[in-house]
Amino acid sequence: MNQNLQAAGKGFVLLLLMCTGIKSATAQSQWLLPLEVENRASLRNVRLTNIGAFALPRKTRPTVSTHLHAGIDFARWARDKDTVRVFAASAGKVISVRTDGAFAQIIIEHHDRGKKLWTVYEHVAGIRVRPGEMVSSQTVIARLMSREELVHYGWQFNHLHFEILIAPPKPLVPTLRTPHRYFMTYALECETEAELLQRYINPPEFFKSRWQHYNLSKSSGSASEALSKTRK
Ligand SMILES: [Zn+2]
Repeated sequence: MNQNLQAAGKGFVLLLLMCTGIKSATAQSQWLLPLEVENRASLRNVRLTNIGAFALPRKTRPTVSTHLHAGIDFARWARDKDTVRVFAASAGKVISVRTDGAFAQIIIEHHDRGKKLWTVYEHVAGIRVRPGEMVSSQTVIARLMSREELVHYGWQFNHLHFEILIAPPKPLVPTLRTPHRYFMTYALECETEAELLQRYINPPEFFKSRWQHYNLSKSSGSASEALSKTRK
């Protein structure tokens, strides 16, 4: 009888420890890659396109002057899959959605360590969210363009353009063509590094800083299990 009680007590303590572990993992690992990959808490699973690095000088189209790349371009990471899901990188509120064609874009507002941050997802299709919706890092918000869409829009859009803004996005008046587009970013207008860094963070560095915090403070196996569960 006593042994049973003892075992039950141990079980309870174990359960409590696991719950605490899961809770802290959820709180600390809330930033995850916005991609459907095996481990969303590691950069090892993804690669950028050849010209996809942050702050790289770009001239994307004739009408746009040379600017520094304000985000990063994740290369299509599942070559054999036509439908590759895009997730919100962290909990937040969708504030702007543009669904018209190759520059389809989602902007999400986040609260991070007492400050506001915004994430931007561009060249996406099959958008599933609307402004005002609350999301978490587990919310599928869109997908990459399919092969058929890439043939239509051009293979140069065969990547996920992703930005992290530290300056508030610029308000826009929605139009008939883009009724849910309330904001735009500074993606095409940062010509110097100073201008860029006033408005943007380098995403890989940002993710690493968040994960480092998590890795340093993780205390149990259950925490990493909780993290791995969020990959699916
Ligand atoms: Zn880009």
